[in-house]
Amino acid sequence: MQIDASRLWQTLMDTAQIGGTAEGGICRLTLSAEDRAVRDWLTTEARHLGLSLSTDRVGNMFLRREGRSVTAAPIAMGSHLDTQPTGGKFDGILGVLAGLEVMRSLNEHNVETEHPLLLVNWTNEEGARFAPAMLGSAVHAGTLPLDEAMAQIDAEGMSFGEALAQSGCAGEADIGATRIGAMFELHIEQGPVLEHAGDRIGVVTGVQAARWYDITLTGRTAHAGSTPMEMRADALMAAIAFISDVTDIARTAGGYATVGEFAIKAPSRNVVAGEVRFSLDLRHPEDSHIEAMEQSVRDRLTAIGDGISSHMSTLWFSPSVRFDAGCIAAVRHAAETSGLPWRDIVSGAGHDAVNISRIAPTAMIFVPCKDGLSHNPAESATAEDCAAGAQALLDAVLRYDACPT
Ligand SMILES: [Zn+2]
Repeated sequence: MQIDASRLWQTLMDTAQIGGTAEGGICRLTLSAEDRAVRDWLTTEARHLGLSLSTDRVGNMFLRREGRSVTAAPIAMGSHLDTQPTGGKFDGILGVLAGLEVMRSLNEHNVETEHPLLLVNWTNEEGARFAPAMLGSAVHAGTLPLDEAMAQIDAEGMSFGEALAQSGCAGEADIGATRIGAMFELHIEQGPVLEHAGDRIGVVTGVQAARWYDITLTGRTAHAGSTPMEMRADALMAAIAFISDVTDIARTAGGYATVGEFAIKAPSRNVVAGEVRFSLDLRHPEDSHIEAMEQSVRDRLTAIGDGISSHMSTLWFSPSVRFDAGCIAAVRHAAETSGLPWRDIVSGAGHDAVNISRIAPTAMIFVPCKDGLSHNPAESATAEDCAAGAQALLDAVLRYDACPT
């Protein structure tokens, strides 16, 4: 059974008008009028396809197609329809609309699955209007308490709870009431790996670990003209050498190190920097490796010397996620039968699937996006790659339906 590639593309392009921007992207902030409009559109589609819709109290939408078994927990597909303010046409949206295309194809071919199927639109994945990102799936998975989510405030001072009420996006269903037996999320890669390798499908085996730190180096301010070089405690020069070494630590470990924020305290062109503060973001697919990277960073920090003292605090700690072996096997089977070049890949970014993997067997499928660009109006994926992803989604779901492991 083949999905309808042109119908999928047409649906992607049609719905891209909802919140469409002059630059060719989409601005569809969570719980905005545009978000409401695309949700209404999806509700109408669900009705046409004979799917039953249940919306929970944070606005997560579950569209159900019955299977032969009435007792089996459903196999879910889905992602998110909200975007960044400078969003593109594919991030999240592809995962939902490909799931819709799967439902359409199954109906057209009169296919009855063993398990019921669900198409899910998770609320506020982007985190652009309300923190944290992936809010709806976190509430569903029970990792974010409902009252905490409701109290989140946007830039205008409106709470998430108020925005739900005002937009009319909230439903009646209790949180977690919709069972999920397994979930498959199709997404654009948002990175350059697949495109660079010439691969068309990514079998996502997990999501890498991430740790965030703040580091302060304190030396001594001094006169730029009258303090000999060997008598300085220059915090900035110490930081430059340290950051260079941290980059080497990451390269050697096969991980990532990023200093995205950096500030000199009371900067002045003729004063030796007395104190600098900077952020450090470490990533690695393996928890044991990120732990070793952190240890090397700490060792390097203690070894700075030269009258420089240091302080390092941990802000955020996200362990790696390993997706379910059975779900991965279903995606791999779909990739193999596609006849297209594919590879195993670890996601560099977080997704709703990370939250759901804590409560149900989960895996993801990636397709390439042009130049790895995302969160940008120029975000682009080809019609062929979108279709290949949707086909892999259909095949993986059918495979898992036939032999869940
Ligand atoms: Zn996304």
